[in-house]
Amino acid sequence: MKKNIAIIGSGFSSLSAACYLAKSGHKVTVYEKNDSLGGRARQFKAKGFTFDMGPSWYWMPDVFEKFFDDFDKKVGDYYQIKKLNPAYRVYFDKKEYIDIDNSIEKIILKFEEIEKGSGEKLRRFINNAKENYSIGVTDMLYKMPGLSPLELISLKTIKKIKLFISTIRKEVHKEFKNPKLRSVLEFPVLFLGAKASNTPAFYSFMNYADFGLGTFQPTNGFYDLVNAMVKLGKSLGVKYYTNKPVCKINVSDSVASSIEVDKKNIYYDIILSGADYNHTEKLLPLKFRQYSDKYWESRVFAPSSLLFYVGFNKKLKNVLHHNLFFDTDFDKHAKEIYDEPQWPSDPLFYANFTSKTNLKTAPAGCENAFFLIPIATNLKDTPKIRDKYFNKVITKLEAFTGQNLDEAIIYKKSFCVSDFKREYNSYGGNAYGLANTLFQTAFMRPNIKSKLVSNLFFCGQLTVPGPGVPPAIVSGELVSNLINK
Ligand SMILES: Cc1cc2nc3c(=O)[nH]c(=O)nc-3n(C[C@H](O)[C@H](O)[C@H](O)COP(=O)(O)OP(=O)(O)OC[C@H]3O[C@@H](n4cnc5c(N)ncnc54)[C@H](O)[C@@H]3O)c2cc1C
Repeated sequence: MKKNIAIIGSGFSSLSAACYLAKSGHKVTVYEKNDSLGGRARQFKAKGFTFDMGPSWYWMPDVFEKFFDDFDKKVGDYYQIKKLNPAYRVYFDKKEYIDIDNSIEKIILKFEEIEKGSGEKLRRFINNAKENYSIGVTDMLYKMPGLSPLELISLKTIKKIKLFISTIRKEVHKEFKNPKLRSVLEFPVLFLGAKASNTPAFYSFMNYADFGLGTFQPTNGFYDLVNAMVKLGKSLGVKYYTNKPVCKINVSDSVASSIEVDKKNIYYDIILSGADYNHTEKLLPLKFRQYSDKYWESRVFAPSSLLFYVGFNKKLKNVLHHNLFFDTDFDKHAKEIYDEPQWPSDPLFYANFTSKTNLKTAPAGCENAFFLIPIATNLKDTPKIRDKYFNKVITKLEAFTGQNLDEAIIYKKSFCVSDFKREYNSYGGNAYGLANTLFQTAFMRPNIKSKLVSNLFFCGQLTVPGPGVPPAIVSGELVSNLINK
């Protein structure tokens, strides 16, 4: 039977679910609290610059193709993507860096130059990662709504059981001795939100996504994907509202009867929330919340971030579209995120210059920059602290790339823990959800269907499969299938 469905939030999981549910014939309305759609992938414009606010790494292009294919469309019907070459640059010291090429053969040669014998080891590592990708992403991801442990069990996964017990850290350290190669191979784990020493080795499929599939860029940035999904949704009849925070979910007889928006109750058959899980449960009367404060406190959250959106009045040299500054002790920074939460003493950071591949994101002759420092959740962020870290970033960028930048800054905006909380209702100010540790995988993640409210569902980066844009899209499909059942 066709239902009247309200979706809370407009992140990728919500946008995906909206399309699948509308395609099944339901009447779907999306309510977003902010003034634009896309959740953490919003975009803003200032002083002639166009900034993507969140995701910038377009990995796993097969997931995006599959999404549009489910609607008899292609990515190319909406936007173009280009494979970046080199994919990205990793700085280890002043003027010392590795460029990650766009083909595994070239990367193998580079590894071999740095550590004798590591080329062939990398080939084996990536072949294994490819096999995990085929099992984990192609076979399992779309069949794991997280309802039962049995979803994880198949002949193929039983054969790989050792990789659920071992960690990425162990596997990488077993094969590679050079600290630079080790940190390059541990980098993709950052997308899963946990330390390499706390991430099952099976997740090496992210290394295949990185070296095997490559890094892509939509012509106008990630917002191309938001526009595409909204356009598709509209063509299927979805209604989208912005500036409409949902303030309450009203429940009677264990059924969510209505949501409160603009002080009015609006009645629906089904409520689906793609907003942060903890926040959604806070919209319910206490007795209908499944997870206690203690539960949330005991979870491993993906880091928060200190972000800077910066406009330079000149083109920068010695940087690519994506750049990682991994000159510092990775482990120390990770400890300051997860084990002893505090502002990092010597942070590693990521720098993205979209105007290196898309001139339209900056005025002529200028450069568009986005800097990201991963930090612990719940840190107190003041303007003074933000400035201190901005200076660290600029000083390092100047030293490593050999240019003066201080005078060239014509626009600057920061975004940190308190903004994540205020703008997205994010638990602890997390940037990208709940980490994919062994005990936060599949059925061990928060349920996509409430056990206490019969018609309340959840999707997004705190549910299955986990953090990142491709998982958010899959999450929307998984929850839609469950609703349709
Ligand atoms: C800085 C940053 C960089 C990232 N980089 C990458 C990357 O390079 N590649 C990648 O794949 N992933 C990346 N990610 C992760 C990725 O962006 C997220 O995992 C994904 O976009 C999350 O989608 P979602 O659907 O779970 O929810 P969200 O995007 O969090 O959307 C939830 C929405 O719900 C809204 N909302 C909250 N409360 C209410 C309410 N009461 N009423 C109405 N609306 C409400 C929020 O405003 C928000 O719009 C990054 C994330 C961040 C923050």
